[in-house]
Amino acid sequence: MASLLSEDSCHFVENEPCCHPVEEDDENIEFEPKEPKKSRVKQSIHKSFFILGGVIIIFVAIRNTLTWHLQRCWGASGDFWQALWAQVYDYFEGDKWIIGFWGTNVVACVIFWYLNAFFLFVDITGRPSFLRSYKIQADKNVPVKKPQLIKALKVVLFNQLVVSTLFTLACMPLMEWRCNSVVRELPTFSWVLVELAVFLIVEEIGFYYSHRLLHHPLIYKHVHKLHHEWTSPIGLTAIYAHPVEHIVSSLLPSSLGPIIMGSHIATIWMWFIMVISSAVNAHCGYHLPFFPSPEAHDFHHLKFTNCFGTLGILDRLHGTDVLFRKSKQYDRHILLTNLTPVAATFPDSPKKSK
Ligand SMILES: [Zn+2]
Ligand SMILES: [Zn+2]
Repeated sequence: MASLLSEDSCHFVENEPCCHPVEEDDENIEFEPKEPKKSRVKQSIHKSFFILGGVIIIFVAIRNTLTWHLQRCWGASGDFWQALWAQVYDYFEGDKWIIGFWGTNVVACVIFWYLNAFFLFVDITGRPSFLRSYKIQADKNVPVKKPQLIKALKVVLFNQLVVSTLFTLACMPLMEWRCNSVVRELPTFSWVLVELAVFLIVEEIGFYYSHRLLHHPLIYKHVHKLHHEWTSPIGLTAIYAHPVEHIVSSLLPSSLGPIIMGSHIATIWMWFIMVISSAVNAHCGYHLPFFPSPEAHDFHHLKFTNCFGTLGILDRLHGTDVLFRKSKQYDRHILLTNLTPVAATFPDSPKKSK
């Protein structure tokens, strides 16, 4: 797989220019944030409330809609989710290893491959063709090259079947010590919302700082460079990473919240479904209608120096979104609520003549 990144890796020093391939449009863009720190802190706090509130409202809406449809289709009554969970729990006789260990790995694998089966089909066949207009980097990986894909598949399967499995195994005694998470009774919905807010904050902190650390010159070329081979990522590359990175930057930040809160296994499954869906969406390379915008992380793969976090809160705080905020991709960084591709609404600027 050809790497577009030079051997010199990125600097960890805040806001310092990096060794990424400079595009023509970047020439007049400064890296040094001009806004005062106070203003960035204020914007970061505003962003935190806006994003956390937004995620929770969307989660409540999805949950209510799902409950309504499922109750209508299946004629279930009472607390639908409790009844459904009780069936799963009873079927496996509350076995901690089957539900806690195997169940967690199976849920993570199923959601990852369910989403990636769709994106792989699109990336390999180029069909349905209308999706091309939603591609973020229009001419990249169309179609995706076979040797690249096979290499990515090997790394992804190793991370999923070996690294993630061993990590879950290591978490088992930790979860058991923390509390008994495999129980028949589900937590209340309001408690799940509290936990969700904690998970989001812990993940943003864990992912942002571990990701910044992975860009340290001494670490980058040995670990994180592999993930950055894909300057235009595809869904599969969500976990195309060195095993150390997969543990430090993916598994730990997403698992710490549930460990701290001593969460119910059903809440953990729900959270992992959200995390994996979000990671695949962030890497898929398509800005699809009604899906969260993947522009920020796609921009990180393209430029290397900006957009290290998941929510953008810590990027605002540390000014590591200055280049992004001046880019065309930032204009396009919206939730698409109609079928018009963002590239049509915010077309590329004409190239400057030299
Ligand atoms: Zn990535
Ligand atoms: Zn990176």
